[in-house]
Amino acid sequence: MNAQISPRPDPHALVGGFLARTHELFIDGKFVPAQSGQTFDVINPATGEVFAKAAAGGAADIDLAVKAARKAFDSGPWSTLNAPGRRNLLWKLADAIEKNAEEFATLESMDNGMPLMMARFAVAGSAECLRYNAGWAGKINGETPTISAPNHHVYTLREPIGVVGAITPWNFPLAMEVAKLASALAAGCTVVLKPAELTPLTAIRLGQLIAEVGFPAGVVNIVTGFGDPAGKALALHPDVDKISFTGSTAVGKSIVAAAAGNLKRVALELGGKSPVIVFPDADLERAIGGAADGIFRNSGQVCVAGSRLFVHQSVFDKVVDGVVERAKKLKVGSGMEPDTQMGPLVSQKQLERVSGYIQSGSEEGAEVVVGGKRVEGKGYFMQPTVLAQTNRDMKVVREEIFGPVVCAMPIDDDDLDRIVKLANDTDYGLSSNIWTRDISLAHKLARRIKAGTVRVNGGVGLDYALPFGGYKQSGWGRENAREGVEAYTEIKSVSVAL
Ligand code: NAP
Ligand code: MG
Repeated sequence: MNAQISPRPDPHALVGGFLARTHELFIDGKFVPAQSGQTFDVINPATGEVFAKAAAGGAADIDLAVKAARKAFDSGPWSTLNAPGRRNLLWKLADAIEKNAEEFATLESMDNGMPLMMARFAVAGSAECLRYNAGWAGKINGETPTISAPNHHVYTLREPIGVVGAITPWNFPLAMEVAKLASALAAGCTVVLKPAELTPLTAIRLGQLIAEVGFPAGVVNIVTGFGDPAGKALALHPDVDKISFTGSTAVGKSIVAAAAGNLKRVALELGGKSPVIVFPDADLERAIGGAADGIFRNSGQVCVAGSRLFVHQSVFDKVVDGVVERAKKLKVGSGMEPDTQMGPLVSQKQLERVSGYIQSGSEEGAEVVVGGKRVEGKGYFMQPTVLAQTNRDMKVVREEIFGPVVCAMPIDDDDLDRIVKLANDTDYGLSSNIWTRDISLAHKLARRIKAGTVRVNGGVGLDYALPFGGYKQSGWGRENAREGVEAYTEIKSVSVAL
């Protein structure tokens, strides 16, 4: 018998039931409308059309959510649940996401615009993130230090920090939300999540699954709404013990200021302006592919996007021509079309922002080698863009564009000190990429680049076992790995005179 190709599921049938619902806030285990009764439009960036409405939570809703999280942490069943209990719930949530993976991926693609293939990958990653962190639940240990005083028994305890406020961006919505939830819950914290207003849908769907798999009421609360007032109220709230924020550096600084009121702990995953450095001995085909993918993936709306491309002058034309060729061939379209490689930008505002940067680059003397224009028609589509003749003083080189725009610059000598200086000539320090076959050179550079991640010859993308975060103005703290879970704990020293 011939193998049958199963038809693609009808996306509208898959998500229609969910979209037809009235979307509410998830507080204390129940779905409730915003106190104000207000909602906001959810837009599909591939069409510009409103396809759902979400509840616009405000300060009063945040307050209720924080109270629920406080109660669940201090006196609810979460406070007495043991580590295997937390582990099992995280596993169950991972299973539930996996079971509904196609629905999650479709919602994510419609809401954010990303190609369905990428959304599937992100959803699978979210399940994996929960399982990875589930493993940590029973492995959070203190120590028995050796102290100088005789006749004492001392030890340290790692205790959950308490109520965590998680504020997340729109570029990989579910994955960003789950990254915070998984580590915080593994450590024993409770959470109030404020997802990005541009992409609230997968967070709401996640809330339904959190209720279904049996998390006690108040352990996770989800308040959709705007940065101001909802995010701001969370950052200011005196009964929140930690804010974990992913987003722009500007808002990150406002979070730090808001946190000063009760000196809540703050973790920040912020922007980047990551260098890609290509040496002449590299496998140039792979370097070209990596450079193109590193800036055009998710339309460049990636915090680790390789947006400053430094290429040794002897291979500059070859590498830049290669990236330009890839840009020309890239299939730009709706994320729901099966052959789409690059979707729209997330919003009209983001389209204007990226267009504004390209214009400013042109005015400052940059050459638009390919792209540079929005794609006419409905939706917020931008052409993949390569800028040359750029230099360190230009806004396009200094500031994060968060779009499919790379600035190519030649490296005109072989002096390592100068190359290090070029790479580090930025306020940011999130990621970096080195392409060379010279192992010694790669490791020397890896030690000298001021960034939380160094990828040599492509390296690996995200892996939950690798700490992730930024140097300099790319943030405070690390997510993932042991460090990511321990970031949701406090250490207590106990000493006993014997
Ligand atoms: P954003 O404007 O900083 O927003 C991030 C989150 O903060 C959203 O939920 C936003 O709500 C909320 N927010 C806005 N103003 C706030 C305030 N005053 N107080 C508290 N919360 C507030 O960033 P974005 O535009 O969503 O995302 C793009 C940026 O995030 C880029 O700069 C990118 O580099 C960075 N990013 C970093 C990482 C990383 O891991 N390092 C990952 C992804 C993105 P609204 O949705 O209502 O605005
Ligand atoms: Mg949307």
